Amino acid sequence: MDTSAYLKSHIRTVPDWPAPGVQFRDITPLLQDPKVFRVLIDTFVHRYMDPGLRPTVIAGLDARGFIIGSVLAYELGVGFVPIRKKGKLPFTTVEETYELEYGSATVELHTDAVRAGDKVVLIDDLIATGGTMMAGCKLLEKLGAEVMEGAAIVDLPELGGSAKLRASGLPLFTLVDFA
Ligand code: IMP
Repeated sequence: MDTSAYLKSHIRTVPDWPAPGVQFRDITPLLQDPKVFRVLIDTFVHRYMDPGLRPTVIAGLDARGFIIGSVLAYELGVGFVPIRKKGKLPFTTVEETYELEYGSATVELHTDAVRAGDKVVLIDDLIATGGTMMAGCKLLEKLGAEVMEGAAIVDLPELGGSAKLRASGLPLFTLVDFA
């Protein structure tokens, strides 16, 4: 089995959660099995160890992006910065609001989290409409950092988010697709 199929076989689909009609892709079984977790992290580490793609910072999106992003940063020997839902970060922040299917959401980043010239890989567990990752990019760019690539375990291509992100100029690296 190739890596993508191996990882996919450890992602659980929960029907009708958190709302009727939603097929929630649950990555917790993938984290729970130490061998699969290692394959997941090593796949990202191998990619970003490459001198051409090596970041100076890993930024993770609230909340599952913290789980994989922090381990990845540790393995690469670079810093980790969290992009959080509004109201969680204690220091001065920049913020970005984006539209959801119903309503809107706001994410924040500490103003000293990155510096101009930093090369950042922005990571989350999953890309759906792409709104969360797009907002994260804007925050990092507001502080003068360059987002080299967006990374996620899962892409839901039918929702159009990954295509929209790529069209905006953001390279993406994802491991598993669910049609
Ligand atoms: P987007 O902003 O529409 O791309 O949604 C992506 C964000 O919502 C990420 O932070 C994900 O963690 C979360 N998300 C949306 N759908 C799922 C899912 O099926 N499984 C896990 N996370 C999801």
